[in-house]
Amino acid sequence: MIHNFGAGPCILPQEVFKQASQAVLEFNGTGLSILEISHRTPEFEAVVDETVRLVKELLNVPEGYSVLLLQGGASLQFSMVPMNLLNEGQPAVYTDTGVWASKAIKEAKLFGNVNVIASSKDKNYNFIPKDYQIPKDAAYFHCTSNNTIYGTEMHQLPKSPIPVVCDMSSDILSRVINVADYDLIYAGAQKNMGPAGVTLVIVKDEILGKTDRKIPSMLDYRIHIEGGSMYNTPPVFAIYVSMLNLRWLTSKGGVAEIEKENISKAEALYREIDRNPLFKGTCAVEDRSRMNICFVMEDPELEKSFLKFAEDRDIIGIKGHRSVGGFRASMYNALPITSVHMLIEAMQDFAEKNKF
Ligand SMILES: *Cc1c(COP(=O)(O)O)cnc(C)c1O
Repeated sequence: MIHNFGAGPCILPQEVFKQASQAVLEFNGTGLSILEISHRTPEFEAVVDETVRLVKELLNVPEGYSVLLLQGGASLQFSMVPMNLLNEGQPAVYTDTGVWASKAIKEAKLFGNVNVIASSKDKNYNFIPKDYQIPKDAAYFHCTSNNTIYGTEMHQLPKSPIPVVCDMSSDILSRVINVADYDLIYAGAQKNMGPAGVTLVIVKDEILGKTDRKIPSMLDYRIHIEGGSMYNTPPVFAIYVSMLNLRWLTSKGGVAEIEKENISKAEALYREIDRNPLFKGTCAVEDRSRMNICFVMEDPELEKSFLKFAEDRDIIGIKGHRSVGGFRASMYNALPITSVHMLIEAMQDFAEKNKF
């Protein structure tokens, strides 16, 4: 068995892969492959309906919100958000907590005035800034709930007098959230929800339609709401596999149950990082992510050989992002706790071998 700690596209449950491959051969008694069936058939419309329904159930999405399945990744949301929510000359408030946040800031600057209210850039994004006040006179507040590259996560949402927009690409469906605290949530599916190719947007309907800007149809949330995420051909297979994964999550007891597992997995690995004299964490302890766990070695010279040591045990995907170095273990929902134990064991055996 391979232990896949890759940061994304993510590990998905084996049963999801099996069901998905079955549907490539024959989908739901239609005699056709999921890859060739029309997206306008009742069979596929049922897939979109179920995917949206499962997202609503799993996240307890309240009335007044629309759930959209779009394309273009979280990266397109960096522009779609300001295009739909920000008037020219109007300010929007952003926190700069990593590479993804700064890319969101860069795009927003094309559409209005961006006020970066807090940043952890000067500490290589190793913490989540907290001492700031969100002003009343901006169009919205944008934050990134989990910084995939640096391994920090917002464990608390600041109080906001203005609409809250959140990039949840790498921790959506990993923990219980109160959707009503947000006005727009977006996430590329491939970190926790499904395969690459579909992007989840949950938007409070009443925040839309307030800019004077002309918005191209494909970039207008209202058009996609009207079209039920079928304004054009949707990413049929990515949606189907996401639906299978959402079913799996539901059968596991939903987000509250998976959150407990995610806490156990993260605690176990952080305990080892803190205990083992060869390793150390890279982030402020109170801001540590449960999804992406970053750590380095006290002696960087040993990093190459630990990477090889782990790979020989089929532990893959733990090389850190180049901007942090060291290691990053991504532990999305489908990563079994046995994989975490294998990594911990490798760290212990490596320390033993290096006589600690
Ligand atoms: C991966 C990631 C993105 C980029 O997602 P794409 O779907 O590749 O555009 C944006 N934000 C965060 C937090 C991410 O982890």
